[in-house]
Amino acid sequence: MTEVDVAIIGAGAAGLAAASALSASPLSAVVLEAQDRIGGRAHTVALAGLPLDLGCEWLHSADHNPLVAAIAARGLTIDKTPPPWANPEATANFSAAERQAYGKAFAAFDERIEAAAGDATDRPASDLLEAGNRWNPLLNAFSAYYNGAEFDQVSVQDYAAYDDSGVNWRIAEGYGTAIAGLAPSGVRIVPGCPVSLLRHDGPRLRLETPRGVVQARAAVVCVSTAVLAAGGLRILPELPAKLAAAEGLPLGLADKVFLRLDEPEAFPVEAMVYGASDRTATGSYHLRPLGRPIIEAFFGGTHARALETDGPDAAAAFAIEELVGVYGSGLRGRVSVLARTAWASDPWARGSYSHALPGRAGERAVLAAAVDGRLFFAGEACSPNAFSTAHGAWETGERAAREVLAALL
Ligand SMILES: Cc1cc2nc3c(=O)[nH]c(=O)nc-3n(C[C@H](O)[C@H](O)[C@H](O)COP(=O)(O)OP(=O)(O)OC[C@H]3O[C@@H](n4cnc5c(N)ncnc54)[C@H](O)[C@@H]3O)c2cc1C
Repeated sequence: MTEVDVAIIGAGAAGLAAASALSASPLSAVVLEAQDRIGGRAHTVALAGLPLDLGCEWLHSADHNPLVAAIAARGLTIDKTPPPWANPEATANFSAAERQAYGKAFAAFDERIEAAAGDATDRPASDLLEAGNRWNPLLNAFSAYYNGAEFDQVSVQDYAAYDDSGVNWRIAEGYGTAIAGLAPSGVRIVPGCPVSLLRHDGPRLRLETPRGVVQARAAVVCVSTAVLAAGGLRILPELPAKLAAAEGLPLGLADKVFLRLDEPEAFPVEAMVYGASDRTATGSYHLRPLGRPIIEAFFGGTHARALETDGPDAAAAFAIEELVGVYGSGLRGRVSVLARTAWASDPWARGSYSHALPGRAGERAVLAAAVDGRLFFAGEACSPNAFSTAHGAWETGERAAREVLAALL
């Protein structure tokens, strides 16, 4: 039995931010993490001498992203090369006319979203696709990458609330490395310690773990909405509003495959290709990110789920087939699979990032609200306008820590 002032559940970006903000306070805190590593959906692995980000990779809204300065201060390298998706010229397998037509369809859709976001009634973003438009399948593929779900699953009001400055940077050593490096030294982090049950009906909160019981005055819950909704952390007495909010903010799915190139110089640096422009079940392929000898394939939504279901080799096989369609069969012998993700199958994430279902945009505030001045909630899905990002998760952890300090001190 351990007694602390504050128990933080989950050592992802939100949990580490909460721990960091509490480390300077007189309160005792502990972070309980289910996995044997920290970072959660921020996870860099080193393969073939390359730091590969299996989860978050881009410092979105980098010009006002609070993590940029903190990461740079720790001596990591902020790379400001713009992403290929920001540069239409970088889409190697589109003609100039196609790029222009897609750009026009995208801008018109965005304008309709902005206009509809102020309506009293929320609706699915797919309502605003122009019937019969030739670019609808690719717009839906974009939604699958960006939201982790096609537009029929996405609330117009929530989609419009996302704040994106359009400035995107990377960290050469990896975003996962950077987030793990922000863990405070003054707070104990216990890996391999899943919390199965959080009871809040006694004078002290009671957290059950395989390594014993932790009693606390307050808890900061930082697990994903999908973990909450699936009962990966049970809270008793139940909090029906929180469960409903978690269900209204499901995690979409985005998965990656990293392919190593034997003759990288044959491919342009920082370019991208789509497998196809006339279907939604297609990958987007980032060629030679940061000049490295790799292609990073990205899949989203229904297609990513189907590939995960089809088994561990399915996504890589699909990526190679699509790239053969673009570069010819010679590519087959010049690539090898370095890594692939399966975020839906990860029991401690159960998906990639949250989106609000149509009509459920208000659930982010419900999820983020404190209960009884001692249960606090953080994580990317709690962010009002930086949800689905690592910096949004970080900000919610800091906000939860401020609430804890106000309640306990
Ligand atoms: C493929 C992919 C690409 C992405 N790309 C980007 C990007 O480019 N830029 C960006 O900003 N964001 C990106 N994201 C999103 C970003 O990674 C997440 O929004 C962010 O890392 C979430 O942080 P979090 O703290 O809210 O949750 P998590 O990182 O999920 O942290 C929750 C932690 O809780 C732990 N946990 C779960 N259940 C329990 C339990 N019962 N007891 C104890 N611990 C538990 C988990 O193991 C985990 O460590 C991407 C994500 C994915 C998957």
